[in-house]
Amino acid sequence: METLIIDGKKIAEEIKLEVANETKSFHNACLVTPGLAVVLVGDDPASSVYVRNKQKSAIASGMKSQTINLPSTVREQDLLNIIENLNLSNEIHGILVQLPLPSHISEEKIVQKIDPIKDVDGLHPFNSGLLSAGTPRFIPATPAGIRELLLRNDLDPDGKHVAILGRSNIVGRPLANLLSMKSIGGNATVSLCHSRTNNLKNITTTADIIIAAIGIPNFLTEDMVKENVVIIDVGINRIESTSHKRGYRLVGDVEFEKVKLKSKAITPVPGGVGPMTIAMLLSNTLLAAKLQCA
Ligand code: NAD
Repeated sequence: METLIIDGKKIAEEIKLEVANETKSFHNACLVTPGLAVVLVGDDPASSVYVRNKQKSAIASGMKSQTINLPSTVREQDLLNIIENLNLSNEIHGILVQLPLPSHISEEKIVQKIDPIKDVDGLHPFNSGLLSAGTPRFIPATPAGIRELLLRNDLDPDGKHVAILGRSNIVGRPLANLLSMKSIGGNATVSLCHSRTNNLKNITTTADIIIAAIGIPNFLTEDMVKENVVIIDVGINRIESTSHKRGYRLVGDVEFEKVKLKSKAITPVPGGVGPMTIAMLLSNTLLAAKLQCA
């Protein structure tokens, strides 16, 4: 049986087109253009690339996009004031603060300052609470993108054992809630694994679907998976490479070439989960505009 290489880029383009069409209809009906503000603190090259891509995609979908670049020395109070102004703006419906933030700024305080109705990253405790109650409003973009990747490739997690590696607030934890929900794209039995999990291999070798979000290159090896497994690789790791012009190449958390041979379906890095994250962020921004203009 040939392994399905899940094309996240193609599915993300489909979703972006759907969002662009809906944005147009929404604009025609309500005369409102959804507006997304992205706040970037510091000049981390990877974060800058993500923010540029988010801005470009928002504009291509017919939305307004504002990027606020701040130096890494910005005071926490100044950042809180900027968020307060965005909370009050009629032009901005979605606010995203690119994480991580410098260590002198409390991520918790910043996330909690964002008005929950504009929290398109879904990280505010109000929104994460709704998700854990099984009635989500804004689902964090990466977990939402993973659910779409599964559903749009006929890989419904319903009834399956899903092992999630990594318990971060942006990927692992909300994903565990999402995939175990009693709804379409849910109904999975989830093992949420992390750095303190004993006998990880015992769990991964019984999983029908493995989602790796750890940040360790090639962590998941072929001996850790069963035949016919579905693999979603969230990891984005830079590996030094002299044969690449930019001096590095991107790899995931999965030893792709070997694990692929045992898999029913697998996402590549790049071109798997990454593009879906942006598509779902746009979908959340449109939802935010609709909720605020209802
Ligand atoms: P993180 O870096 O905050 O945390 C890593 C998680 O991995 C922790 O929960 C930790 O318990 C777990 N972990 C570490 N070692 C482990 C081990 N040996 N066994 C099991 N679990 C272990 O996580 P994050 O922010 O979710 O990022 C994870 C990776 O996903 C990174 O490479 C990041 O760049 C990537 N990422 C990609 C996207 C995307 O859009 N594709 C989005 C977010 C994050």
